Amino acid sequence: MSKRSRSSRSPRASLPTIAIHGGKLHAYQGPVSVPIVQTSTYRFANSRDPLRYAAGDPDVYVYTRYHNPTVREAEQRLALMAGAERACLFSSGMAAISSALFAAVRNGEGILSTPSLYGGTYRFFRDMLPRHGIRVRYVTPDALQRIPFLADATTRVVYVETPTNPTLRIIDIARLVQSVRSAEQKIGHRILIIADNTFATLLNQNPLALGVDVLVESATKYLGGHSDIVAGVVAGPGAFLAQVHDQLKYLGGCADPFAAFLLVRSLKTFELRVARQNDNAMTLAQFLEGRPGVRRVLYPGLVSHPDHALAESQMAARGGRGYGGMVTIEVSGGVRGAIAVCDRLRIAVNAMSLGGAETLVSIPVLSSHVSMSGAELRRQGVTGGMVRISVGLEGIGDLTDDFDRALRHLVRTARR
Ligand code: PLP
Repeated sequence: MSKRSRSSRSPRASLPTIAIHGGKLHAYQGPVSVPIVQTSTYRFANSRDPLRYAAGDPDVYVYTRYHNPTVREAEQRLALMAGAERACLFSSGMAAISSALFAAVRNGEGILSTPSLYGGTYRFFRDMLPRHGIRVRYVTPDALQRIPFLADATTRVVYVETPTNPTLRIIDIARLVQSVRSAEQKIGHRILIIADNTFATLLNQNPLALGVDVLVESATKYLGGHSDIVAGVVAGPGAFLAQVHDQLKYLGGCADPFAAFLLVRSLKTFELRVARQNDNAMTLAQFLEGRPGVRRVLYPGLVSHPDHALAESQMAARGGRGYGGMVTIEVSGGVRGAIAVCDRLRIAVNAMSLGGAETLVSIPVLSSHVSMSGAELRRQGVTGGMVRISVGLEGIGDLTDDFDRALRHLVRTARR
């Protein structure tokens, strides 16, 4: 933020180094930690400053909904981490997703999406976009090769989330990109591919490196990492991000400077946290597989997972560190079984959200997917007995003991 700081990051700096230092060489005198510029507005040096701002001078700040130095620091760091030209920080993941979509799609145009989505995004597609004349159609992950036949002159965006929530299926991004690019040849215009990377995180998968145009992520989750902020990010090409930033100004989903500060603080431990969450998730998934009371364990790192080979080639073999911190189990006894397990856990916290230091559990049919019909749940592969686990940073022995106790209780009560 100091004018004396120099942008001198080596282009080959690794993700943890970028997450700690951002684009700055700290060879100036000033705070090591990013200051919180907690202000709504900025004093002009003289009355020409607003004109300099309007002409694009990045050093003139006018109003915090437009821009803020603490927020800008977080945005620059996130852009560098993603290898994107620019990033915009928002007040939530949904603000980021909706603003990116309103920047890309207009009345009369459409989106093609894979069907397994975060519940909030799915409801936004189902309930809100049609009011703006925007139609969403779905293509299943095993039919990506049909995109050139499904896309038409109105198609502007292909939207994807991988791993999916809560079934943790993997979408083949390379195949998707190839299919979309041949659809573009057929219809004669660009289609923007937008990927929600919240579950995978940049440590395990970078969609931009796989040919996706725009990355969206709920920074409330692994980027924030401590269950104490709500924020979201869009990262991608500068020209498109300028339109996203316009939406940010119109719709007002700007990030708060204090949340931006907490986010920058959290990014310093991003790699450590997510690497540990990967390890804990793998060990917990292996422990739970085959346990009495557990019908299925869904974790892309397990060889039993239907998309394990794809996860390995798309995540681990492409420089990703692992398979993420999310594990879903299906317990016996349907939703009652899921409730019995979740209410018996003593360390894992029964709460919505994910990506924090604490292990969280939630029952999708009672939380993220509660307003969906039976047909919608079937289409997304969600069952009543599913428990979604966001594996945290606790000692792994404590976690396995906690789930062991709760599952023994389930099996005991089922026998009675
Ligand atoms: N995308 C995914 C995959 C999510 O899980 C969530 C929230 O749970 C969101 C987007 C929305 O993020 P936020 O709650 O920060 O608006």
